[in-house]
Amino acid sequence: MADIAALATTLDGIELSTDRALLRQKSRDFYWYSPILKAQLDGKAAELFVRPRDEAEVLRILAAARTARVPVTVRGGGTGNYGQCVPMEGGIVLDMTAMTAPIGITDGVVEVEAGAKMIDLDLWARERGWELKLWPSTKRTATIGGFVAGGGAGVGGIHHGTMRERGNFCGARIATMTDPPCILDLEGIAANPVNRTYGTTGVLTRIRVPLTPAQDWRDVAIAFPDFVQASRFALEFSFADGIPKKMCGVFDSQLPPFFRGLADAVPAGHALALVMVAPGALLALRELAAEHGGSIVAMQSTVEAERDGDATPFYEYCWNHTTLQVLKKDRGVTYLQCRFPFEDTLAAVEAVRIPFRDEVWMHTECVRFGGRLTMSALPVIRWTNAERLAEIMATFEAQGIGIANPHVLTIEEGSNYRRVPGDQLGFKQRTDPLGLLNPGKMRDFTPVDVPGEAA
Ligand SMILES: Cc1cc2nc3c(=O)[nH]c(=O)nc-3n(C[C@H](O)[C@H](O)[C@H](O)COP(=O)(O)OP(=O)(O)OC[C@H]3O[C@@H](n4cnc5c(N)ncnc54)[C@H](O)[C@@H]3O)c2cc1C
Repeated sequence: MADIAALATTLDGIELSTDRALLRQKSRDFYWYSPILKAQLDGKAAELFVRPRDEAEVLRILAAARTARVPVTVRGGGTGNYGQCVPMEGGIVLDMTAMTAPIGITDGVVEVEAGAKMIDLDLWARERGWELKLWPSTKRTATIGGFVAGGGAGVGGIHHGTMRERGNFCGARIATMTDPPCILDLEGIAANPVNRTYGTTGVLTRIRVPLTPAQDWRDVAIAFPDFVQASRFALEFSFADGIPKKMCGVFDSQLPPFFRGLADAVPAGHALALVMVAPGALLALRELAAEHGGSIVAMQSTVEAERDGDATPFYEYCWNHTTLQVLKKDRGVTYLQCRFPFEDTLAAVEAVRIPFRDEVWMHTECVRFGGRLTMSALPVIRWTNAERLAEIMATFEAQGIGIANPHVLTIEEGSNYRRVPGDQLGFKQRTDPLGLLNPGKMRDFTPVDVPGEAA
């Protein structure tokens, strides 16, 4: 057992706490979406909370933790879904939310401290004529460091793909768990080993991501008599190169009644498409929607909704917010993450939607992977038990649908099509040979035998 009290005394001047209520709160994320993870993770907690203000403090914390052989789990906004920032072996929870400063924009690439909230970063960029290419639907609470280390898909994916696409993540500064800890500056593909590795390969202190010229996006809700019409519209909209767009989600008719701000606007039994589109393309959008039997039932400015505490930007009904909107009213559901084939996409969606219609409520998002567009999905699933969930996943896979299983803890088991290429394991052996960074999340890692040190 490490002496946490003794360790804390070496961190004089750094914000820290051993308050048990705070530790419990800062040791959780949204793993409870999964009844399987909930059973595994409830009750796990760190023993010391630390909140560094700068890289020097991060290095001091890592040095003290390394000396005492205490694990360190990094935390941003704590909105991850797979227990990614739950400290499996206690130790330190290292909260990055005091490191938020934008450093600057060079050639359309922003450099920022990793604890910046994505909403703040986007608004800061917007004042300078730019916006983020990609953000999660948790933009108002998630940090950029957490998005790089734990997320990587979401709004903007219809045009820019995911964070694993070459060019969407330019580089990072990281603090290592070496002896002594040090700062590495990683550029281009050299930064892949810290992309979506759940904070197991280094503490991101600064991030560099490309921006795109800002648009005054409009949120538009379009109701359709049925799901197939909505999906055909969505695919044609996604492929329409003349329409600048940021998002397109499709929801089967069971879901809109759970969307507080939209439920009254969507006729009963109708499917829904939610899109973000540039104002200059509204005419083209209206025409396309009408051709597919859709009617626009609500519209607002995305940025105004983001700034208004009472309004809901439509992306907060999309991506993994769909599941949350349902969970607010019905705790008996969970979800899946999947990617449909690039060819005959809608046929594959229908092949699983129809047979499971009573227990799988289909929700798809249009997104590009490697330059090809398809639908990914976060369907809401009526929870029965783990065996039934496994049967549903197996049926999806038999139809050629990829599953990134959100009911498992490790990068290797959960990532599937979301895994970033690169030698992440080899990199961890160099940056965290003792395995103290977020232990339990990189399945294939075993501590390296460092001469003169017991792991
Ligand atoms: C309602 C809801 C909707 C969501 N929608 C999306 C979505 O659209 N797209 C998406 O990709 N995800 C989504 N997520 C998951 C999550 O919100 C995102 O991945 C988000 O970007 C995580 O950011 P965070 O700051 O909350 O990270 P955290 O949850 O705090 O951390 C996530 C992981 O990153 C690590 N980490 C955090 N900061 C650092 C750092 N500075 N250095 C090293 N490691 C670090 C943590 O250890 C952890 O493993 C959703 C989750 C919820 C609950």
